[in-house]
Amino acid sequence: MKTLIDKLRRETVLSKEEYMTLIDGRTPELADYLFEQAGAVRHRYYGHDIYIRGLIEFTNYCKNNCYYCGIRCENRAVQRYRLTEEEILSCCESGYALGFRTFVLQGGEDPYFTQERMVSLIHRIKQRYPDCALTLSIGEKSREEYQAYFEAGADRYLLRHETANDEHYRRLHPENMSPQNRKRCLRDLKEIGFQTGCGFMVGSPFQTTECLAEDMLFIKDLQPEMVGIGPFIAQHDTPFRDCPSGTMELTLFMLGLLRLTLPQVLLPSTTALGTVHPQGREKGILAGANVVMPNLSPVSVRKKYLLYDNKICTGDEAAECRNCLAQRMKAIGYEVVVSRGDYPAALSERKETL
Ligand code: SAH
Repeated sequence: MKTLIDKLRRETVLSKEEYMTLIDGRTPELADYLFEQAGAVRHRYYGHDIYIRGLIEFTNYCKNNCYYCGIRCENRAVQRYRLTEEEILSCCESGYALGFRTFVLQGGEDPYFTQERMVSLIHRIKQRYPDCALTLSIGEKSREEYQAYFEAGADRYLLRHETANDEHYRRLHPENMSPQNRKRCLRDLKEIGFQTGCGFMVGSPFQTTECLAEDMLFIKDLQPEMVGIGPFIAQHDTPFRDCPSGTMELTLFMLGLLRLTLPQVLLPSTTALGTVHPQGREKGILAGANVVMPNLSPVSVRKKYLLYDNKICTGDEAAECRNCLAQRMKAIGYEVVVSRGDYPAALSERKETL
């Protein structure tokens, strides 16, 4: 088994069968070995620096009806909200003062935020904070719309593929959503020039080891700059309310595999991981992650953006989240840095064109 991990570190890819062998055959000892290797690779590119992203959950309106998600359109129990442009800018303002140099606008697929409104918002944020990176996470759009966001100044885009296995995808989503369109979006985003993030939930209903191995191969092929993964956690008003959560243990193992598969990837240790275990985010860093995403949303709306149950940090002010995470990182020997935290290759390319 260790020889497979050595091979992955050397060659940065395995066959589907080999990924499956590692995932199914994992033991605590093997996981420790994986994390050691993943840590060494991460240290080569990022040292002990941890990048922070200020997450602004700016709307919980959504036209989609994903079976796992708490803000799916059919969930009548959700109090819907959307932030105004001024409110979003004020999140950025407090975030900037706290040392954030990346803002992530995340939301449901809210038809109110048309291309025109998004472009205006992107312009205003980039004009006011030209030294910051702006990341969007607002779902599936046409190529033209993605292009317009990019031209308006957005730098990065997060769109989890959710699962690379088409049959599995169909079991997580209603019929009007297709795995083909999800993947089309990701390829468009890459081609347009966004630093692009895909990702999946660990332990989502109907997921098999084969699905996870296919995720690894899809990710290797797409070559995203970022990969977001976290455990699936049931939300009590969704069709998956009774499904068991994904485990921290498997999520950490997948983080380790991702670090060895894409050595330079920007890999967040997610809030969902911190939700299934009090030290989940610290352990995620120690498994190979190098990014954390504290919440900058106004406290008044935090409890309305509940994709899953028991989400942590919903009562904390932005400054508390930022300081708490900095403390947690320091306690395990890492340091939150004031930086845009770009993908290294993208940075060197940009330098070459200067
Ligand atoms: N509408 C945007 C943002 C989605 S929310 C988009 O489509 O990209 C961000 C991510 O949260 C989703 O991609 C999904 O992987 C994750 N998520 C949703 N529900 C979840 C749940 N119940 N447990 C864990 N993660 C969940």
